[in-house]
Amino acid sequence: MAGIKQITVLGSTGSIGLSTLDVLARHPGRYQVLALSANRQVDRMLAQCLQYRPRWAVMANEDAAQQLQSQLIAQGSDTQVLSGVAGLETIAALPEVDYVMAAIVGAAGLPPTLAAARAGKRILLANKEALVMSGALFMDEVRRSGAELLPIDSEHNAIFQCMPERFTRGQSEALAEVGVRKILLTASGGPFRTLPLQQLSEVTPAQAVAHPNWSMGRKISVDSASMMNKGLEVIEACWLFNTRPSHIQVVLHPQSVIHSMVEYNDGSVLAQLGNPDMRTPIAHALAWPERIDSGVASLDMFAIARLDFEAPDLERFPCLRLAIEAIETGGTAPAILNAANELAVEAFLQQQIRFTDIPVVIEETLARITVQQADVLASIFSADQLARDTAGSLIGQFSDGVRR
Ligand code: NAD
Ligand code: MG
Repeated sequence: MAGIKQITVLGSTGSIGLSTLDVLARHPGRYQVLALSANRQVDRMLAQCLQYRPRWAVMANEDAAQQLQSQLIAQGSDTQVLSGVAGLETIAALPEVDYVMAAIVGAAGLPPTLAAARAGKRILLANKEALVMSGALFMDEVRRSGAELLPIDSEHNAIFQCMPERFTRGQSEALAEVGVRKILLTASGGPFRTLPLQQLSEVTPAQAVAHPNWSMGRKISVDSASMMNKGLEVIEACWLFNTRPSHIQVVLHPQSVIHSMVEYNDGSVLAQLGNPDMRTPIAHALAWPERIDSGVASLDMFAIARLDFEAPDLERFPCLRLAIEAIETGGTAPAILNAANELAVEAFLQQQIRFTDIPVVIEETLARITVQQADVLASIFSADQLARDTAGSLIGQFSDGVRR
């Protein structure tokens, strides 16, 4: 059908994936699901295939792909199953795909997101780790192919909405040219913003994933608790909006109602507000420059009643400092930071290390690895692997008690 946008959802079984399918289901005349992907959750993917009837489904895991294919055949479905990284790259770059939702978590999202960029798609970017690892290369591919990059991360989506059209349409490269003085990146501060500092080493994974305002996947929830998420978002904002950390101010705002702000030369500060529900940025990026219903309720100003702001405490949140240092260093430093963080977060979730060990593992991994230029993908992947090996052995020392 002409005019209907064909969509690939990478990471459709996750938190962002589910919100995306919810928005798409509200607009069947506008969007059609062409391809879905997941890692290994066969049951959820089977249900999604039967409901959305995509032409392709990809399971990153081979065994899961085989199970899914045989169950789909048994149900009389003609969805074709592919597997592995090659399968993910295929559905991100199919000629008939218009939009790609990049919602795989972690470094695993980089290859298919890059494939979508090379193929010139509209990319709805949730997978911030891809941009953290390979920002320069990724943005080059976007410019070269003429891909459209729309941020899904609520803060970056808010900033995008507060930017002048000349900038978001790619007619201006520099923020100063469009009168922007700085970006105010808001952060909730997560569940441990006011916890007495000495208790931070005893917090459990269950406490860390219980975010006060947002319901999200486990990894990003731990990142929010450590504020590494905000650090990754500073890096993400540097690439998306062609700026430096010195022009980005992190503002703690515990209510998560203002999703970020942009300050102009004349003193104007524009903010985007809304309920903390990812369907708003998803609907915005799908329909841009139009607006569609997202299913999100109206913001009740009287129930909110007040908005608070605080400066972030870098002693409590060393991960934020480490991320800002990594983007200042440049090259492969952010990729090393990202990989060490992924391993440390997983080790914390598995109760192998303490919450307060996460920044220690990351800082020591960064100290042990020589930063290289991040001008080719091979050097980024090799930094990523080296950081995983290094962080893995450090985690072993922590969990064996050698480090305590
Ligand atoms: P999630 O853990 O809920 O879902 C992750 C998805 O990725 C799942 O579909 C999973 O099957 C898939 N996946 C995991 N490992 C994979 C692998 N090795 N290969 C292929 N697929 C794999 O995560 P989420 O909370 O939906 O977050 C997804 C991304 O969006 C992350 O990069 C996160 O930082 C970003 N993000 C999320 C939110 C949020 O509200 N959840 C907000 C902003 C940004
Ligand atoms: Mg965010």
